[in-house]
Amino acid sequence: MSQNDVLFVRAQKSIPGGVNSPVRAFRQVGGTPRFVTKAKGPYFWDADNKRYIDLIMSWGPMIVGHANPEVVEAVQKAAETSFSYGAPTEGEIELAERICALMPSVEQVRMVSSGTEATMSALRLARGYTGRDLIIKFEGCYHGHADSLLVKAGSGLLTFADSTQNAPSSGGVPQDLVKHTLVLPYNDVDAIEEVFKKQGDQIAAVIIEPIAGNMNLIQPSKEFLGAIRNLTSKHGSVLIYDEVMTGFRVALGGAQSLQGIVPDLTCLGKVMGGGMPMAAFGGKKEIMSKLAPLGNVYQAGTLSGNPVAVAAGLKTLEIISREGFYECLTGQTEKLMKGLKQSADKANIPFAVDSVGGMFGFYFANTVPSSYAAVTKTDIEAFKRFFHLMLDEGVYLAPSAYEAGFTSIAHDNAVLDAIIAAADKSFQKLK
Ligand SMILES: *Cc1c(COP(=O)(O)O)cnc(C)c1O
Repeated sequence: MSQNDVLFVRAQKSIPGGVNSPVRAFRQVGGTPRFVTKAKGPYFWDADNKRYIDLIMSWGPMIVGHANPEVVEAVQKAAETSFSYGAPTEGEIELAERICALMPSVEQVRMVSSGTEATMSALRLARGYTGRDLIIKFEGCYHGHADSLLVKAGSGLLTFADSTQNAPSSGGVPQDLVKHTLVLPYNDVDAIEEVFKKQGDQIAAVIIEPIAGNMNLIQPSKEFLGAIRNLTSKHGSVLIYDEVMTGFRVALGGAQSLQGIVPDLTCLGKVMGGGMPMAAFGGKKEIMSKLAPLGNVYQAGTLSGNPVAVAAGLKTLEIISREGFYECLTGQTEKLMKGLKQSADKANIPFAVDSVGGMFGFYFANTVPSSYAAVTKTDIEAFKRFFHLMLDEGVYLAPSAYEAGFTSIAHDNAVLDAIIAAADKSFQKLK
């Protein structure tokens, strides 16, 4: 029995399913989750001391590599002066100023401790600001696990759900609450035009992953994004860009900088905390000023703007702001995808790839899908086998075909060559 097996048996006694977040369990692919003992740069080691090249990077945050010495030093320095005060600090102002500078649509920002809190708070704010109840989300998008967003949601919910039409994706979510959430297909311009024509004056907000990364990687069309921005502006609805995953991951200014769209509110997380529990939501000052203590929309957090997390976030944002960071990250990620595609071609296996900045998707299909429905038609069985073959070769992919993958600046040429060599072997065995 491996140490991972021993730990997994032990974990399941005191932790439901043995994991503290469902996507960590290998439920879609089968087998034993790897228990991590340490990580450095692009690698982590499991309880059997086996080394893996990490292509999840904590689901996105570790963009400057695991245990980056500069970030470690910043965190150590912050930790020496206590972990939390429950009172404001200058570091929070610096982080807020930096976010506002990097994302011009964000005029003011409020810090929270998780992406879930960011989206939940942004929705409450949008409802408070507009005085309306209805929200629109898109099928396969994941926005954290707040009740009203657990409808046809992506990520772990896709991995586990029996997607029943119009029902909550999770138990414990009242139908009464979910009726305020309208779910439309991603990339469907007609569907959103139709809804706005009928109920435009009742819609508080449209929330979207501007590049979807929780149903594998799905890019929006220009027409789709343009229609959403026009319709929300015309009807006085708040456009919420959920950039918890894409913010500082696909580009320094997030997906919005690549798309030329100015959202009303933006949710951030993952990279902005450099691996610490840290997230934020921000946007137009006119809307943000409705938040307590200025306005009547309540929102709070004991650990919000935590000084150790702020130190990690600030240092991470400093590193990614350096000249050439995203050119390098984007080039390396594209090179990796090209290599995987060539390996699959050699084995005659239908395979498609896509990437934006340091985020990628691959699909056992002939073409890159553009909706949740299309992702479900890719060859999930082939993915499962590929996942385990790569794992044996020491490459750790997301344990689900409904997740994007992530690189870091530490994934250099030698690391990419090792991944591609592993893929060569794996695809040959797969065919
Ligand atoms: C990860 C994620 C969230 C939730 O963030 P947590 O920190 O896990 O609560 C929300 N939205 C998107 C797009 C995400 O990828």
